[in-house]
Amino acid sequence: MKSWIEINPGNDFPLENIPFGVCRDKVSGKVRCATRIGNYVIDLNELADLGYLNGLGIRDMLVFKNNYLNDFISLGKPVWRAVRSRLQEIFSEGNHELQNNISEKAGVIRHILDVDELMPVKVGDYTDFYSSIEHATNVGKMFRDPANALLPNWRHIPVGYHGRSSSIVVSGTDIHRPKGQTKADDADAPVFGPTKLLDFELETAFITGGKTELGDSIPVDNAEDHIFGMVLFNDLSARDIQKWEYVPLGPFLSKSFGSVISPWIVTLDALEPFRVDGPEQKPEVLPYLKTKGKRNFDIELEVLIKPEGSEAKRVSKSNFKYMYWNMAQQLAHQTVNGCNINTGDMYGSGTISGPTPDSYGSMLEITWRGTKPVKMPDGTERKFINDNDTIIMKGYAEKGGVRIGFGEVTTKILPAK
Ligand code: MN
Repeated sequence: MKSWIEINPGNDFPLENIPFGVCRDKVSGKVRCATRIGNYVIDLNELADLGYLNGLGIRDMLVFKNNYLNDFISLGKPVWRAVRSRLQEIFSEGNHELQNNISEKAGVIRHILDVDELMPVKVGDYTDFYSSIEHATNVGKMFRDPANALLPNWRHIPVGYHGRSSSIVVSGTDIHRPKGQTKADDADAPVFGPTKLLDFELETAFITGGKTELGDSIPVDNAEDHIFGMVLFNDLSARDIQKWEYVPLGPFLSKSFGSVISPWIVTLDALEPFRVDGPEQKPEVLPYLKTKGKRNFDIELEVLIKPEGSEAKRVSKSNFKYMYWNMAQQLAHQTVNGCNINTGDMYGSGTISGPTPDSYGSMLEITWRGTKPVKMPDGTERKFINDNDTIIMKGYAEKGGVRIGFGEVTTKILPAK
């Protein structure tokens, strides 16, 4: 596909992508739903006002004059699809309906530097899964029994927990080092203070569209119809707080002090060409979790740490395709008990580690609990994350000269408040 908007080679947002987000114009202060093409942002409210999005099944065009995408997402997959195709049509090379209308064009298109990228959705409920077998195995080896690293339920259940949505924020939001209770192995009593073991978790997350009724379950075969799209997700974690608190009910304050997503939601339609088979699931899973066809996606992921005033260093290069449990299985499992879902709910993948140490998705694993520190370009070492470090995550799928990217999640860690 070619667009009449200039797109540099290697840009994450070619015409094939058409992600959805929310931006604030730096001059007017107006907040609008938007898409992104190259380094330009398209104001969907303005396009709709001008009549360019008529006839696509949107009854109330005010869905785009909104602080969040939720109202648009609630319209369902046929509408998401129709809007994405129409946008590709309007901005295709050879289509002059908007291109030749100078005043309309000026109202619709902004440079990315002229807007702030905001939280794309109002997240209602948030679940974090634990679906990478390499990650679960590494953590099991470190904290429990190397011979029985995976708990008996792990290959039968997409393990997860209910997290906190109020502290999910968009890329660029600074996060203060959290404080809490920790207890050293050889100490008699816990102490209170800033975490010493602040970590990232390299994850993706998917966002659901449409609601289900209490008591209903989403069958695994059409679970993807309920998935609007995906973002990159940095699930910040305080390992020392986590270790002391997580038995018996799982992570609590060690995970709820700030979790960061990328601003553009990439649709499953855009990711369609990058489908791959997942790992073989053995033993066979129960029928309600059985999927047919290619349900994983080949998405390159990487993490960089940038100490203040220094170059960034890449500390991990992983891939979404390593996920043992796929998104359809996660959503089928989430709802199998009759739990209802809503538009804007978010589901984290769990830390995505690959098979080799350079593909691990957390500092806990990369430095193996701090026993193998990583050298930074400025000569300092990292076992975990220091104050004033910036964590950068990137993700993209690429094949046959087409690149569908997610942009970045950037998070600076400030000292404890
Ligand atoms: Mn996590």
